[in-house]
Amino acid sequence: MEIKVQNDVTQVWRDCLSVIRENVTEQSFKTWFEPIIPYKLINKRLIIQVPSQFFYEWLEDNYVKILRKALDYAIGKDGQLEYTIIIDRGAPKPTPTPSVNSNNNTNGYQANGYQANGYQKYPQRSTEVVEPKNPFDLKAFNEKQIDSFLNKNYGFDNFVEGDCNRLARAASFAVAQKPSTTSFNPLMIYGGVGLGKTHLVQAIGNYIEKQSNNNKIVLYVSSEKFTSQFINAIRENSLQDFMAFYMRVDVLILDDVQFLSGKEKTQETFFHIFNHLHQTGKQIVMTSDRPPRELSGMEDRLLSRFKWGLTADIQAPDLETRIAIIQNKVEEEKAVMDEQVIEYLAHCIDSNVRELEGVVISLIADSALTRRKIDLNMAKFRVKSIVEENQKVISIDKIIDTVTDYFKIKVVDIKGKTRLREVVLPRQIAMYLAKEYTALSLKAIGYHFGGRDHSTVIHAIQTVNDLIDFDRDVAGHVKELQDKFKR
Ligand code: ADP
Ligand code: MG
Repeated sequence: MEIKVQNDVTQVWRDCLSVIRENVTEQSFKTWFEPIIPYKLINKRLIIQVPSQFFYEWLEDNYVKILRKALDYAIGKDGQLEYTIIIDRGAPKPTPTPSVNSNNNTNGYQANGYQANGYQKYPQRSTEVVEPKNPFDLKAFNEKQIDSFLNKNYGFDNFVEGDCNRLARAASFAVAQKPSTTSFNPLMIYGGVGLGKTHLVQAIGNYIEKQSNNNKIVLYVSSEKFTSQFINAIRENSLQDFMAFYMRVDVLILDDVQFLSGKEKTQETFFHIFNHLHQTGKQIVMTSDRPPRELSGMEDRLLSRFKWGLTADIQAPDLETRIAIIQNKVEEEKAVMDEQVIEYLAHCIDSNVRELEGVVISLIADSALTRRKIDLNMAKFRVKSIVEENQKVISIDKIIDTVTDYFKIKVVDIKGKTRLREVVLPRQIAMYLAKEYTALSLKAIGYHFGGRDHSTVIHAIQTVNDLIDFDRDVAGHVKELQDKFKR
């Protein structure tokens, strides 16, 4: 009996599909109808299961007439359609449910960790069926000719592993081997500028694409590009294609999601795409320059999604890792560099791998050009010019602004006479940073702090130096401020 019922619903849905297939493009069929699961047939009521609320709304908005036609054919004029929706696992609250649930029979779903909801809104809205125009060439999907926008130079084999990135690398590698079957979905990699986030997530994509049995569509996109595509899609009235395009991807890599901060509409769209991909078992990989909890201007419901999988950070590399990265780069460029020079560079440039690489490459280029071996002097000269270049952009005013901002005090106070501790310490730290980042003399620094003399500046610098060693809070403040001056 049970089997008979099963067959009925399957057969009826098959009949429906045969009508639908004739009335929509193949792309739309694949995107919007293949994922539908025929769920139940109760008398003349066909209940289909769709992956998300959004999906349901989309069908209702765009395909209502075709569905009616299909139903007329498969069941008859009095045929009815209802939907059940797999509720987002992150939002366990059930939405109001008319008919189907009251007829119970959704228990099997709940046992699987899902809840099903019924909707009986059909049929009433009549919307024109709009077929995709084609900016996001959906045909390419069928021919597996989607450009993944990956940079082939980023791989796991040229990514140097260290304590600073071990977890992020391991998780990335696991995802690359088994996209969407690990619990790392979504995978979110975060860390400062130039620490290898893009390299790592691109390595995931490249690895998947290289698998011999690869039939997955990988897409790498920066959040900036995603945003501008979205805006264009609205302007050109092709949002439907935009959505359909992203929903067809198997592995979506979205770089620098912090860029979506404050962009409500783009976030909302990404939220729908995210849900759809996640619910249909697709892999999502993201990067951010800060941990999710510090992403301001980001919708809570989106942030909560980010926590479903794994969040792994990348820290600045330690000395050994920096040495290994340089060696790696030198080897890649088929160049030669003395141990001594490598160590010198690794000591000098300690925060940003991109910068480190930049110095190494420019040294290699110099040496090729001048036919001179890279020696310590050459390295010193390079590092010096880079440090000077960095210093140029940091003015004393910028330091004062940054420090007052950081400690939430007023510029007039830091330059003024007050001896309040809340002001004295920031003032001393600002002087300390001025010495570190500008070429100003002690006298000149004193001048910028309300005409103090140079011995006051010396005292400030020494005090901060001592505090950094003994007072963790102060050390932390100084470090955070220094980070703000790094490029
Ligand atoms: P992010 O996206 O975090 O700003 P990138 O991935 O663009 O940083 O990395 C900057 C540069 O440093 C890239 O050229 C990258 O190949 C290199 N890089 C970063 N980390 C590593 C690493 N662990 N091993 C090898 N190269 C690295
Ligand atoms: Mg990047």
